[in-house]
Amino acid sequence: MHQLWLVEVKRYLMCLMIALVVGLMLEQVAWSLLIVSMSYLAYLIWQIRMLGAWLHRSSLNPPDYQWGWWGQVAAEVFGIRQRSIRRKKRLTRLLRRFQDTTKAIPDAVVAIDKEDHAVWFNNSAQATLGINQKEIGENIRTIIRHPDLPLLLKQVSDPSFQWDQQSILEINSPQDSEKTLEIRVLPYADEWRLILARDTTHIHRLMDMRKDFVANVSHELRTPLTVILGYLESVVDDQSMAADVREVIQRMQGSALRMKSIVEDLLTLSRLETDQPTDYEECAEVDIAHIVDTVIQSVSSIASEKHRFAVDVERDLLLKAEELEIYSLVNNLVTNAVRYSPAGGDISVRWYHDRGNAVLQVSDDGIGIAKEHVSRLTERFYRVEVGRSRNTGGTGLGLAIVKKILQRHDSELKIESELGEGSSFSCTFPHYRVAS
Ligand code: ADP
Repeated sequence: MHQLWLVEVKRYLMCLMIALVVGLMLEQVAWSLLIVSMSYLAYLIWQIRMLGAWLHRSSLNPPDYQWGWWGQVAAEVFGIRQRSIRRKKRLTRLLRRFQDTTKAIPDAVVAIDKEDHAVWFNNSAQATLGINQKEIGENIRTIIRHPDLPLLLKQVSDPSFQWDQQSILEINSPQDSEKTLEIRVLPYADEWRLILARDTTHIHRLMDMRKDFVANVSHELRTPLTVILGYLESVVDDQSMAADVREVIQRMQGSALRMKSIVEDLLTLSRLETDQPTDYEECAEVDIAHIVDTVIQSVSSIASEKHRFAVDVERDLLLKAEELEIYSLVNNLVTNAVRYSPAGGDISVRWYHDRGNAVLQVSDDGIGIAKEHVSRLTERFYRVEVGRSRNTGGTGLGLAIVKKILQRHDSELKIESELGEGSSFSCTFPHYRVAS
C-alpha cells in the first residue's frame, strides 16, 4: 500500500510523456500537457468521490472495483473495519458471558468508583439491596446505610490495608428487615471497589439456635446438680461411713463441683452473648484499681500455693464499663496467672494510660504457652494441657469469657507468651471509655 503512491506518480509521469509527444507532433505542447494534467486531476477527484460514496454506503461490502490508489485506501479501510467488527463481536460475546456469570452469583455485587459512586450492579444486588438503574451514579452510602461504611471505604483504598474480621459489616437488609446481610468491600483496579453483600440470615438463625440450646441445657442441668451437690455435702462428713465409701463420695462431690463450674461458665457466656451491652455513655465509672485489690485478696486467700504480687495501678484512672463483667475479667486473668505458674512465682498486675487508651496487663513468670496455641486460647474448651487445667479447677471457658467481655467493651486482648518463661495478657480499652 505504501508503494502505491509511487505507482500513481509513475502513471502520471507516463501520461505527461505521452502528452508531451502528442504535443510535439501537434506543436501544441502546453495545451497537451494542460489537458492531460486536468484529466488526471479529474480522474483523482472521481476516485475520491467513489471512496466517499462507498464509505457513505456503510462500507459493509468490499469496494467493488479497483480505482487505483484511492481504491487501495478503500480496501485497507475495509480490512480495518472487518477486523474491528470481529473484535467487537468477540467482546460482546465475552461481555454477555460475564453478565451471565454475574447473574448466577447469589451474592449482591456493586462496583463503585473512586468517589464512591455506584457504576454497576448485578441482579442479586437489585433483589438484596433494592438498588435500581436510577441509582447508578449515586453515592453508595445512600444505598447501604451503616455508620462504619465510610471509614471502611477509605481504609480499603489504602494500599497497606489488610483484610480482617473487623472489615465485615453487618446490616439489616433494606428490602426485608428480618434478613441480615454481611457486607465486604474489596479493592480492585484503578481505586475502584467492589461491594459484596451476602445473606447470612440462616447462619445467624443457626448461631441463635446453638446459643439457645447451650443456654437451655446449662439451665436444665443447674437444678439437678444443685440437688445432687446438696445430698453429697450432707453425707460427705458422716464419720460413721466406711473410709472407702467416703472417698468415693468425695470424688463424686469434686466432679459435681467441676460440672457446676462448667454450667455456671456456660451460662455466663450465653448471657454475655445474648444480653445487649450497655452503651459506654450510660456505664458507671468503674474503679479498676479497687477491683484488682479485691481480686488479688480473694485469690490469695483461696490459693494453696503462694505467689508474689506486684501491683502497679493508676488509682485515678477509671473506666466506663460494666463492673461485674470487669470483675469477672480480672478474676479470670489473675486466677490463670496463679494456676499456670509455680508456687512463689511473680505475678504483676498493671493498670495504666497508654496513648489515650487504658491498658490492664496481667503477667506471670509461669509455664508459658507455645506459639502455635496462642491464637486458639480464647476458643471455648481449648486447653493446652487438659490435665493441668482440670486439676487446678479450670473449665476451659475462662479466656472465652474474657474475650466476650472485652468485645462488649469495644476492647481487645493481646497475648504474649514464651514457653517456660511466662505469659502476659493485655486488655486495651478505647480512649472514650477512659475517665480520670
Ligand atoms: P482454663 O480453665 O483451662 O484455664 P482458660 O480459657 O482460662 O481455661 O484458658 C485456656 C488455656 O490457656 C488454659 O487451659 C491454659 O492452657 C492456657 N492459659 C491461660 N492462661 C495461662 C497462663 N497465664 N499461662 C499459661 N497458660 C495459660
